[in-house]
Amino acid sequence: MALLEFFTGKHLDRGLHVPEHKDLTSGLPIRRLPFAPMLVVPLSQHAGAPAIPLVHEGQEVVRGEPIAKAGGFMSVPMHSPVTGRVTKLALAPTARGDLGMAIYITPYQAASQEVLYGAPQDIENMTPEEIVQAVQNTGVVGLGGAAFPTHVKMKVPDGKKIDTVVVNGCECEPYLTTDHRVMLEYPKDVLYGARIAMRALGAANAVIGVEDNKMDAVEALRNAIDANRTANVGITVESVPAKYPQGAEKMLVKVLLGLEVPTRGLPADVGLAVFNVATLAQIGELLPVRQGLIERVVTITGPGVRKPGNYLVALGTPLRFALEQADCRDDVSSVILGGPMMGAAAGSLDIPITKGVTGILVLTQKEVKASSQIYACIHCAACVDVCPIHLNPSHLGLLARKDRYEEMETDYHLMDCFECACCSYVCPSHIPLVQYFRVAKQMNRERANRERLKAKEGAHA
Ligand code: SF4
Ligand code: SF4
Repeated sequence: MALLEFFTGKHLDRGLHVPEHKDLTSGLPIRRLPFAPMLVVPLSQHAGAPAIPLVHEGQEVVRGEPIAKAGGFMSVPMHSPVTGRVTKLALAPTARGDLGMAIYITPYQAASQEVLYGAPQDIENMTPEEIVQAVQNTGVVGLGGAAFPTHVKMKVPDGKKIDTVVVNGCECEPYLTTDHRVMLEYPKDVLYGARIAMRALGAANAVIGVEDNKMDAVEALRNAIDANRTANVGITVESVPAKYPQGAEKMLVKVLLGLEVPTRGLPADVGLAVFNVATLAQIGELLPVRQGLIERVVTITGPGVRKPGNYLVALGTPLRFALEQADCRDDVSSVILGGPMMGAAAGSLDIPITKGVTGILVLTQKEVKASSQIYACIHCAACVDVCPIHLNPSHLGLLARKDRYEEMETDYHLMDCFECACCSYVCPSHIPLVQYFRVAKQMNRERANRERLKAKEGAHA
């Protein structure tokens, strides 16, 4: 392959083939992590309004019991991840680097930690509205990392019709194997979750897209469909080429169905609703027994841990405790929440593991040192050629360096960037383009908030 072709990414038709590093954990079954001596459950683990506490200091709680209610439709409740006692309601560090309110719970060491909370519910006889409400009660959010409340996606937007549920089982991010293991070990839950989504949305079809580097998962899902053909009518499983970022909503919809989600539009604009596969597995498991989300599967991996694995982690487990269990090495240089492409460095080891944490990647000084030096842009256009949504990252980067954030949004479609980091990855000058774009979006959000506040004050004057 010509060097120029490699740098421009032309041989790939957008997107990248990045080293996967999945073999570290893809063959390891899901194992439960022990409970930490203290769990910290933030009230804001999702997109939308924070949850509102239902418990007070000193109160005893049972594993699975609701401890905070949803703060509105765009919000979800929280459930106690352990049987124990509420130690305090206080601020705790968050992955964003700031502080947020959280419920601190000390587990009872002698408790069995069985989930005794919940009761069966008959989903088959529920209306779509009742299903949406029941899904909100589970507290489930997008477990692929977005943490968007799942029940909101299960409500058909006004004026739209959904005919197909798309289930995202790509897990294209390097190192991560959470979804892979869930598909292998819980295929029936995935299918049940898909059927619930189909019922809520009135969709006749569901298609599960899985990258072709996980053919064992494709087989497990197809076998589960065959085992109950009547119940699973309308559900199919398709393998798609392994390529980063194949799991990005727009790319997956294009490769599976040949449809284009419009710029600034939603999948509902083309009759679709897209869910992560682990999210639907949780819905399939929790909804029939009216239980809440109290734990999730997290891949803990990378050269910085001696015991990598796919761990079932109680929500609220401190990162430091999880790393100790995975036998973290002494020369760790960086801990990333998520994968190396879309993840973000953890600012503190005291932050708790929340609903949106798909993985913990632990790197040593050796891997981090390799890419630290930044050089000037050489205008090679590699970033332009690789961007899956045809943006101009080079020019956006230039504007970001001049603090022209507003222009990036109004004239150069900054908000369409879904931060896949392909542009940063191919840049021979190691320019951290995606970090610039995150900062620019944050600056624009803050400016919009200031303007809204000013307008409100003006209206009340
Ligand atoms: S991070 Fe944004 S600009 Fe860069 S390649 Fe991905 S979508 Fe394009
Ligand atoms: S930002 Fe990097 S990849 Fe893009 S044109 Fe400049 S040097 Fe090339």
